[in-house]
Amino acid sequence: MSAVMSEPVPGVGPRDAERAAAEIFGVTAPATMLRSERDRNFLLAAAPAPLVLKVSNSAELDEVVDLENGALSHARQHAPDLPLPRLLPASGGGLVSRITAADGRSHLVRLLTVVPGTPADGTRLGPGFGFELGRASAALARGLRGFAHPAALRYLEWDPREVARLGPALATLPDPAQRDRLVALAARLADLPGRTANLPAQVAHGDITLSNVLTQDGRTVSGIIDFGDIHHTARVCDLAISLTALLRVAPAPWPAAAEFLRGYQGVTPLEEDEVAVLGDLVLARLAATIAISVLRGGSDPEHAATVAELDRGSWAVLDALGAISGAELDGRLLRMTGLARASASRVADPGLLDRRNRLLGGRRLAPLFYREPLQLTHGQGPWLFASDGTRYLDAYNNVPVVGHAHPAVAQAIASQSRALNISSRYLHPNLPELAGRLLSTLPPGLDTCLFMNSGSEANDLAWRMAVLVTGRAGAIVTDSAYHGVSAATAPLSANTWRPGQQPGHVATFEPPRAADGIAPGRRHAAGRIAAARDWLAARGLDVALALADPMFTSGGILDAEPEFVAGLCDAVHEAGGLFLADEVQAGFGRSGSGLWSFARHQITPDFVTLGKPMGNGHPVAALITRHEIAARFAEVDEYFSTFAGNPVSCAAALTVLDIIEQDDLVASSAATGQLLRQRVAEVTAGLPVPVTVRGSGLLAGIELGGQPDELTPLLAERLRQEQILVGTTGPGGRVLKVRPPLVWTAEHVEVFAAGLRRSLADVLPG
Ligand code: PMP
Repeated sequence: MSAVMSEPVPGVGPRDAERAAAEIFGVTAPATMLRSERDRNFLLAAAPAPLVLKVSNSAELDEVVDLENGALSHARQHAPDLPLPRLLPASGGGLVSRITAADGRSHLVRLLTVVPGTPADGTRLGPGFGFELGRASAALARGLRGFAHPAALRYLEWDPREVARLGPALATLPDPAQRDRLVALAARLADLPGRTANLPAQVAHGDITLSNVLTQDGRTVSGIIDFGDIHHTARVCDLAISLTALLRVAPAPWPAAAEFLRGYQGVTPLEEDEVAVLGDLVLARLAATIAISVLRGGSDPEHAATVAELDRGSWAVLDALGAISGAELDGRLLRMTGLARASASRVADPGLLDRRNRLLGGRRLAPLFYREPLQLTHGQGPWLFASDGTRYLDAYNNVPVVGHAHPAVAQAIASQSRALNISSRYLHPNLPELAGRLLSTLPPGLDTCLFMNSGSEANDLAWRMAVLVTGRAGAIVTDSAYHGVSAATAPLSANTWRPGQQPGHVATFEPPRAADGIAPGRRHAAGRIAAARDWLAARGLDVALALADPMFTSGGILDAEPEFVAGLCDAVHEAGGLFLADEVQAGFGRSGSGLWSFARHQITPDFVTLGKPMGNGHPVAALITRHEIAARFAEVDEYFSTFAGNPVSCAAALTVLDIIEQDDLVASSAATGQLLRQRVAEVTAGLPVPVTVRGSGLLAGIELGGQPDELTPLLAERLRQEQILVGTTGPGGRVLKVRPPLVWTAEHVEVFAAGLRRSLADVLPG
């Protein structure tokens, strides 16, 4: 312990104080003792106003008292609205004098004016006090800005940054559970000096706690006293000290913290990096308080009750904040201060996977990629960054079609959110603007656009429309289709059916597999639709709707002849059914031949569904159809969905369309995709197994001939070691799926090709 903490309080009583006041300051008044931890303070009932005689601890250094005095007068000058005590000079001049106590120890004495009010820790606090405390804390910090003093750089036991130094004291806590918890906490927080070293710093009060904050009504702050802990620190440490004091007495931590921070930020907005350490500083301060009460032991009977009360409060806050993870605490404080950032923590959170599995129903309900799941923190263009700092090339995610974290999309979402976000039941120009933009890219006849939040919902509504308009109840999809997760679209997703669980109203057909030998054309398509119709007819049904992803992505990325897809569409039409081009995955320039992949097949579907990349990650989807279909549906039914087509989603989607057009991403998808297939063919030529590469634009399927299904997932895992993220698709997951953001260039193709070459050399037998 520092000398001031271990040195007994001055052996000076009220009579000594009265004598000193009279002799040194010429003030004759009766004295009563005030509470103080390490000094002796006396209230002098002087006329016309009471005064405080402050007798410092004998271990207190002259330069520290000089620091206190200088800070006080600086703050009084620069925060004139904040009631602070004023130093009064001695009769002989000078603000500091000395007395010698009866025990022979020498003490510095000062005379101060009295600030109105009583300490907040002895007052019933009302609503709004936390806000006022936040304001006062910030105002005093502002008033102290610019003040410098050599004695301000000093170590104080109470400093939350230095809590790790108190580890040995915490190790003597009698309760083993409490001891282990705080010893571990202090050890974890050993990095606080480093984490705070670069934050805004200044000379700060250092002890704006409820015993040093005065109030007259329990709601407002009438003054701040006791500059005895003043030191140079990160300003967020000073804030953390006040916040901790408030939390100890608050009925609930979150409302109190929010109120306090609102008050503080009303005076001084905080920086994100400050808030990012605030939670840990509060925890540190709580641990420091408990450590110091241990260090003091029973040596301070005068304050035993206060100390016990402090400790109780500290434990209550530790329990409340400890109920969530450190990352969650940081995130909550960042949201509270309006500084929420994409990821609250760039540190890997080892408990995250367990928490997720426990709270989300396990891996089947909340699936993850990779044997060792990847925790990502941020992205940029085609790159993704993990919590351990590793940079990955994204060769998989099509949703961030214009690149991860595109600033224009983020800005569009943010600025529209700041202005208004509301359901489409009110007029807003974004909605028809987006509808118009999308329809202008589609064949004539497709003139009606409805919005929703996911691809599943788009297909779901299309299915309802088709059933209603045709008066039929049968569907046709490919045998490996995926069209959604809803009650209507899961049955349309053949690749999610359990064996033997084909729904009775959904017939399947084979997409154009490489195994066909010859590329299937119009005749094959007609035959396959006819067979599907027979299957439905055998169940008393006919086709209402056939759905197809024109790139057959979930089938393994199959290159269909335009004639095959046109043949499907025509055959369905001839049968009186409707045809849906599911562009949820293949749309927005992916195929490299126009925005929509069905365009190369020269068909006009009855429905087109859009989703996934439409908002570059923001949930927004659309169903496009002809007005006569929509009108027929509207005669008997209606459609509205709360979030669908809200102005923020539309702003995101409009920005995505802008960027695809401005950056010519469709042409770039075609060219880069062609290079990709060429380079894959080159690096896989001469391998012991035949490797085929299919697809168009930036959608490529790579298949290893004659290998077991397990090899492809293994290859995906191996590519992760190359810092390349891919997926798998097709029956048995045996096709490597390369479907990157469209901002890939030749540079990224080279990184991918080199990684693929090394990975294949590793995983292929022999
Ligand atoms: N259709 C296709 C072709 C898809 O790939 C998907 C999603 N994988 C969906 C529909 C469903 O979209 P969502 O996940 O947004 O509901």
